[in-house]
Amino acid sequence: MSKSTYQDALSRLESTAAAAGTSPEVVESLRHPKSILSTTLSVRMDDGRMRYFPAYRCHYNNILGPSKGGIRFHPAVDQDEVTALALWMTIKCAVLGLPYGGGKGGVQVDPKRLTPMELERLSRHYMRSMADFIGPELDIPAPDVNTNARIMGWMLSEYEVIHKRRTPAVITGKPICLGGSEGREEATGRGAFHCVEALLKRIGRNASEMTVAIQGFGNAGQHIAQLLQDVGCTIVAISDSRGGIYSSSGFDTYSIAREKERSRIVRGVYCDKSVCEAVPHEQISNEELLALDVDLLIPAALDGVIHRGNADSVRADYILEVANGPVRADAEDILMNKGVVIVPDVLVNAGGVTVSYFEWVQNRQGYPWDLSTVRSRLESHMITAFDEVWNEAEQRRCTLRDAAYALALRRIELSMKSLGTQEYFQNGE
Ligand code: NAD
Repeated sequence: MSKSTYQDALSRLESTAAAAGTSPEVVESLRHPKSILSTTLSVRMDDGRMRYFPAYRCHYNNILGPSKGGIRFHPAVDQDEVTALALWMTIKCAVLGLPYGGGKGGVQVDPKRLTPMELERLSRHYMRSMADFIGPELDIPAPDVNTNARIMGWMLSEYEVIHKRRTPAVITGKPICLGGSEGREEATGRGAFHCVEALLKRIGRNASEMTVAIQGFGNAGQHIAQLLQDVGCTIVAISDSRGGIYSSSGFDTYSIAREKERSRIVRGVYCDKSVCEAVPHEQISNEELLALDVDLLIPAALDGVIHRGNADSVRADYILEVANGPVRADAEDILMNKGVVIVPDVLVNAGGVTVSYFEWVQNRQGYPWDLSTVRSRLESHMITAFDEVWNEAEQRRCTLRDAAYALALRRIELSMKSLGTQEYFQNGE
């Protein structure tokens, strides 16, 4: 039987903690999620039927601060996946040095099958069910797969009705006019882009010589595609849940984003003003995309897409994990033996939570920042974190993932030790 996503996340935590020499008491504490709220949302459909949707919220660990993590709407959401994602958030916030613990939430639903009014009722009901489990100093949600600023706005307004006060800092990724931050929507893609810039510097290569394949063309995938295209990378393949497109001469990702906005489909087109025309390309499957011979492979959709069964077919030199958990732990050795370098999710996609942190700070200060302030602070946070992870990996001759986990575990350990662990209570150390 294959491991669950959470078991996979735990085994990765345990092996990296062993290599980093983390105190057993700290590792043991990270084996146990702090609290999980599991419930069922009953939502009245437009045709009068009542439907029932499993919903979850997990506070994984809060030693460094309140829980922070997105809310995902997807048919594959379950408690196991939410818990794994919350563990990764714990590590991610610590890698970036943010004053947060890790959390995550989700609803098992295909939101594409709901009308806008059904989606609003579901989103408000989620917040109603979680209203005492969420709060600006307790747990601060944000968007994730299939959730967006409007949904965050609905949830915020529901929370404010229940608690009878304006509380913008309770949720991030909301519309700017409701207290959202400039630059939040692009933040995950932009943060990942800064990791590519820093990587290219370290490996001495130019953007213009890089070919790139991107799986997933949603919020994160579209922004990184456009930023990489702007600096001269050739984006040879793009996909979404329905499949992908390939062209060795590269795509104009702005045109493809425009066409996707119009038709909801990833098509190989070039748009001049309002006219879009097909460009020569091949249709490929998501599996074929993962096996393309490119310099940089960017999984930006769901977890577990690269596993023991297909890792051997990966031909990319570098994998940039924009999605959470796209490479299963059991695929990592295979990729390492092939010389594939993985830049890990807990670093790469941390731009989203970093600008969420900025949004929370702005809400608490009542003082919004302009876009250039957000962008320059994001760049500095991302480059600092990348350099810390890279230097750690060089010093310890380990993978970038092991280095990122080691840094995060050290920060968590320091906080736990300040309150006393077994070493202190037995030996006074
Ligand atoms: P999104 O919903 O905007 O986009 C997801 C994209 O993935 C869509 O294009 C969808 O069609 C595609 N997709 C879904 N299933 C697929 C499949 N089986 N094969 C190929 N493509 C598939 O979501 P997003 O916000 O861009 O998030 C993408 C990933 O990035 C997720 O793993 C998410 O956890 C991670 N992430 C997002 C943020 C953020 O701020 N948006 C922050 C950190 C991490």
